[in-house]
Amino acid sequence: MAKITLDNLAHSYLPNPASEDDYALKELNHDWVDGEAYALLGSSGCGKSTLLNIISGLLHPSQGRILFDDKDVTHAPTAARNIAQVFQFPVVYDTMTVRDNLAFPLRNRGRDEAYVAERVQEIARMIGMEDQLNRKARGLTADAKQKISLGRGMVRKDVNALLFDEPLTVIDPHMKWELRTQLKQLHHDFGHTMIYVTHDQTEALTFADKVVVMYDGRVVQIGTPQELFERPDHTFVGYFIGSPGMNLFDARIAGSTARVGDVSVELGSVYEPGRGKVQIGIRPEFVRLAAGGEGIPAEVRRVEDVGRHKIARLSVGGKPVNVILSESQTVPAGADRITFDPKGINVYENDWRVAPASRDEEAA
Ligand code: ADP
Ligand code: MG
Repeated sequence: MAKITLDNLAHSYLPNPASEDDYALKELNHDWVDGEAYALLGSSGCGKSTLLNIISGLLHPSQGRILFDDKDVTHAPTAARNIAQVFQFPVVYDTMTVRDNLAFPLRNRGRDEAYVAERVQEIARMIGMEDQLNRKARGLTADAKQKISLGRGMVRKDVNALLFDEPLTVIDPHMKWELRTQLKQLHHDFGHTMIYVTHDQTEALTFADKVVVMYDGRVVQIGTPQELFERPDHTFVGYFIGSPGMNLFDARIAGSTARVGDVSVELGSVYEPGRGKVQIGIRPEFVRLAAGGEGIPAEVRRVEDVGRHKIARLSVGGKPVNVILSESQTVPAGADRITFDPKGINVYENDWRVAPASRDEEAA
């Protein structure tokens, strides 16, 4: 197992990148702590696979270095990095049996057959394929083949890190949950450094200790699920994490007050006025509905019951805004305003969160 350091790393698929736009992966410095489970989360095309393939050595970065426990491996081939990687689609030997596929990474490392047999049996149980060990991989469903790929990724205990690139894409929904649980258990038992790529926030938030959120070739935030929820560093994190995501309002800031249109909103802390595009972000959990009185004028369009709670869909100045109500709450009669719980407000300038200049004693 190893700590993995990315030092001034960047990658462009173009031979002569000119501007930042030409980089699939923008400059990045980061330590992946030894033994932690990370999810790498972001929408399709944001650079997740590029980053993973650089770590495993399938791709050589156009700039910067990769260190495993402070040893420079930037130019080391994949085999020398001692990593297990599982891809989105199955990689199995069709002519081999399930057993021999699972045993392959161990035999390749010269492990004795008694150990191989024992470990293969354990893994077969984890992926639910104990009764298919003697079958040839050829002819199995894509789903079964992917389980073999996962098993092969998990079979060695002595790897530096385990990398998963959207490994459950072709797995049926029930088995997805089961396998994710197995991966968590594996992490718990052996404490490998794990990086799990996904575009699914539920998968990321349930799997990982730390979630690394990528947007447009950039890591925009690394944090615990709670940090990503409470303090999104970038408006993309606010929007992408949460269901529905964070609401944003254009605002002007003066001290501890934001002006949204001609309504004053108390922020609870003092902020610099901000020069660029200034917005306040508030999650649907912290917005309250009111009839008359203070607040931002809003029109309730409809209310959806999603089981755990209700979502009120509003229109505010022609833009959609969401409010979460508990199962027992109802929309007040004649509701035409929204107010915010100051502790749920974050301030953004050009999409990046700004920290308060100081706490406002009066507002606090
Ligand atoms: P993700 O895994 O998050 O979906 P990728 O890392 O695959 O994203 O891709 C990031 C960007 O790099 C995308 O714009 C993609 O089109 C581009 N890209 C990926 N692979 C290649 C390649 N082999 N050659 C050129 N461009 C690529
Ligand atoms: Mg990808």
